[in-house]
Amino acid sequence: MNKLFEVKNLNMLYPVTDGLFGNIRGYVYALNNVDIDIYENEILGLVGESGSGKSTLGNCILKLINPTNGEVIFEGENILIKNKKELKPFRKKAQLIFQNPYMSLNPRMKIYDILKEPFIVNGIKDKTEIDSKIKRIVNLIGMQDEILNRYPHEFSGGQRQRIAIARAIILNPQFVVADEPVSALDVSIQAQIVNLLIELKDHLNLTMLFISHDLSIIKYISDRVAVMYLGEIVEIAEKEEFFNNHKHPYSQALLDAVPVISDDKKADRNILSGDIPSPTKPPKGCKIHTRCPYVMPKCKEQKPELKEISPNHKVRCFLFDK
Ligand code: SF4
Repeated sequence: MNKLFEVKNLNMLYPVTDGLFGNIRGYVYALNNVDIDIYENEILGLVGESGSGKSTLGNCILKLINPTNGEVIFEGENILIKNKKELKPFRKKAQLIFQNPYMSLNPRMKIYDILKEPFIVNGIKDKTEIDSKIKRIVNLIGMQDEILNRYPHEFSGGQRQRIAIARAIILNPQFVVADEPVSALDVSIQAQIVNLLIELKDHLNLTMLFISHDLSIIKYISDRVAVMYLGEIVEIAEKEEFFNNHKHPYSQALLDAVPVISDDKKADRNILSGDIPSPTKPPKGCKIHTRCPYVMPKCKEQKPELKEISPNHKVRCFLFDK
């Protein structure tokens, strides 16, 4: 498999300021030494609790925010050191699908103008080309040409998300970050949008980073799964391996937290105690040690590395150190 992205040692610290003079009184450790590869034509599912750094990672990979340090290698070049002009070709190739289709579409613009905007931003002015690509994309998202003359408020949440997806892929990107793209939608609509994303991925040879807190959706859509906790990747594996043979106590807890109708094994469940600690004061050592049922003395002092325990399966936990 070819790598489309190599993310190396990515760190993101936000300063926390207070007082009249904006003195820095600490930092939010949003990403810590994140190393991750994204392969061509895969859907990499990124899962974790709210506040784990998933969206920050997606935004840094797209250089929508600048990380504190690290590298994001795309087609052999570190996009983080590029300026606005140098980034233009990358902007066409890598796009974001937002979580909330109610917020992401300008209510004053007709759908035609919303879908035309990416062409204008990228200096494409040929009306025949624009119109034919708009019609093609409307068709691909399963809607009719007549939507082009209407406004976002005339559509349901699911339809709006289809339009938002169309806008993200209209310039034929290679890569898309889908940041919780169905979490604002009714459960009955979620499967339709997830299926649409799978169809589009196959049809357009897309590579996708699919961010979600919902493991059942991650299981359905992903080729590989990465788990984040307090700004760190704690486990990454191919989907089958992850769901059949996950190792990290946090992955186990996430899976145990998925509701099931018949719950004979309730007593065996590993539900983590307490809330995720504040990212302004992450625990020393293993970051999950304050909640981990298997905590050992060294977990409180030393930080475990993300290590390969079998081919393509990495875990950050002392329990699996050889
Ligand atoms: Fe739990 Fe220790 Fe493993 Fe961290 S390193 S997950 S605290 S057992």
